[in-house]
Amino acid sequence: MDRQKIEHEARLLQQEIWRHRATLFPMGVPPPKGMLEPEVAAAVLGYQYVYSDGLGNWGQGRDLFEIAGMLDQQRQLIAVSNKYDYLSMRFTGAHEIGHIALAHPGRIMHRDRPVFDISRGSRDPEEQDADYFAACFLAPEKLVREAFKARFVLMPLRLIDGVVFNLCKASSHALMRAGPGSFAFAAAVAASRTFNGDQFKPLHEAFGVSVSAMAIRIKELGLIQE
Ligand SMILES: [Zn+2]
Repeated sequence: MDRQKIEHEARLLQQEIWRHRATLFPMGVPPPKGMLEPEVAAAVLGYQYVYSDGLGNWGQGRDLFEIAGMLDQQRQLIAVSNKYDYLSMRFTGAHEIGHIALAHPGRIMHRDRPVFDISRGSRDPEEQDADYFAACFLAPEKLVREAFKARFVLMPLRLIDGVVFNLCKASSHALMRAGPGSFAFAAAVAASRTFNGDQFKPLHEAFGVSVSAMAIRIKELGLIQE
């Protein structure tokens, strides 16, 4: 599916959360980023969202994996395995939301493997679309742009000596050597805790997504130039 269409679907769901914010957050409405939780999206879509101590294994041989998430569209249930870390669980939950929001027909009863690095992109197209939806939902364009500008001022940030040195003095040579298209620059920006002497929470942590998910967002939104 077209990436702009996926981004649009994620935005529609965010707007729906915003519309229902008073009901969804009876104890007080959190700041925008705090609303973008898979549990909240599930509530808006009429789905139950549960954490499970283990969803079992799937596949066989070298392809055997511990199930990270499960979607049951008939029972309107999303289950996320709590055997993985916080970022993985959150991304898996948002991935299942993606299957619902993008109306994937073959995903009535669906099991997912854990996503460690969405930059690899070797999964089937609907899985990749659900991953992209998850990244768009958890890290919306407007908020990412604001957070990026607050940290790096320059938009786009370019892969040039001065910038790279400011980003990570210790590994700046390796990064320059890696060069354009290596993904290393995007990942370094996504994970950076400092720029021009300022300290801050890394972008990927601020949005509660993995370094690779944030690196893809940064590239897609044209915030860096290699
Ligand atoms: Zn899936």
